[in-house]
Amino acid sequence: MTALRFDLGKTPGNDDVPRAAAPDALRALTAAAAGAGAAWTRLGDTLLVTGAPAQLERTAAGRTPAERIEVPAARLHLVIQNGRQFQQAHPEVPVLVDRGRFLVVDLDPAEAGRFVEPSERHVPCFGVRPLPANTVVFEQRSPAPTPASAPTQTRAAAEPLVASVSRDAFAADLRTLAEFRTRHSTSTEFRTALDWAEGVLRGLGFATRTQMVVLHGGSTQNLIAERPGHGGDGGAVLVTAHLDSINSRDGAAAPAPGADDNGSGAAGVLAIARALRDHPGARDLRLILFGGEEQGLFGSRHYVAELDHQARERIHAVVNMDMIASRNTPAPTVLLEGATVSQAVLEELAAAAQAHTGLTVQTSLMPFNSDHVPFLDAGIPAVLTIEGADGANDRIHTAGDTLEHVDHDLALEILRMNVAYLVQALGSA
Ligand SMILES: [Zn+2]
Repeated sequence: MTALRFDLGKTPGNDDVPRAAAPDALRALTAAAAGAGAAWTRLGDTLLVTGAPAQLERTAAGRTPAERIEVPAARLHLVIQNGRQFQQAHPEVPVLVDRGRFLVVDLDPAEAGRFVEPSERHVPCFGVRPLPANTVVFEQRSPAPTPASAPTQTRAAAEPLVASVSRDAFAADLRTLAEFRTRHSTSTEFRTALDWAEGVLRGLGFATRTQMVVLHGGSTQNLIAERPGHGGDGGAVLVTAHLDSINSRDGAAAPAPGADDNGSGAAGVLAIARALRDHPGARDLRLILFGGEEQGLFGSRHYVAELDHQARERIHAVVNMDMIASRNTPAPTVLLEGATVSQAVLEELAAAAQAHTGLTVQTSLMPFNSDHVPFLDAGIPAVLTIEGADGANDRIHTAGDTLEHVDHDLALEILRMNVAYLVQALGSA
């Protein structure tokens, strides 16, 4: 035996631990593992403890684990995947812990390399790394016990704008996007979709421009819309999503409605533009729809590479939306994914979710494979907002990612959280 798995808060074997007590129990177990010289890795309310048998025994101290895992520690690997793409590509790899986007799998370390190396045209849909020791992979937070608790001044100021997020306009925009046969980055339909979005944003009073992005010998585009702030510190707040879709199963010419991935995020950018069109912020509001995300973050990498030092310094925060409309969990859940540099943004988003929505919030500081990553790589505070347990969504990148699977309620809640945060981040003119 080399690992113990504790599922605090949900496993029958731990029914003696009340849900409310789970965080304390987790803290106690984590401390016990550290004290015993064992290593721990936490995924939400699941704690994996690895070490020698005596260390594990000392950690457990009489507590019954949910599972005793008989796999050498060196074989334990963490997978971060989009959709269920790792499991679909590698059904032969045993999954020891399945938390949707995050998996712990049993893999020969000598073979792990073949899962890591992306080939030139390969769409990187998952990442594999040795199980990180003494690390929180993601954190789960409960919704506020009393959502209608005393409104703070900030909350009261944001509420009318939060309430103004239009479900009908979001649904209509999403329908328009999902009705394109494909929005493959290099297709004519992508250009038509981009032109349409540009018209919408201009109509809402934003100045727009496009940016050409070289992609595999061809090209795609980014669309950038801006409204200057008034009287602020010269900073800018960015809201981003990728406009392109892909059918990675049947090829570039195959239908790719991309309703959730990422019609939902792109329509979300338009919904935020609508909600904030008349809101005078102190900071600039910049909305970006990227191309080339599905080929490997080409649009966002290009955008960040074009920014000079000053332009990077001016970016106060980036809120990226990628897949916000598939309900994969019993409770409506959002995952906020950032890095140390964006921890403050992440905390403010979590607070906005608590104050203005009924969302359960998961947080992770292991950024992966969406347009927030190039910003983070450049030291710019960026956070991905994505539906919880997106790893349970096995329709993405296929012809099956259609409107009928979209949950507008979840998307609206994520949009309300983002608008509440943005009102605060933009400041008042
Ligand atoms: Zn996506």
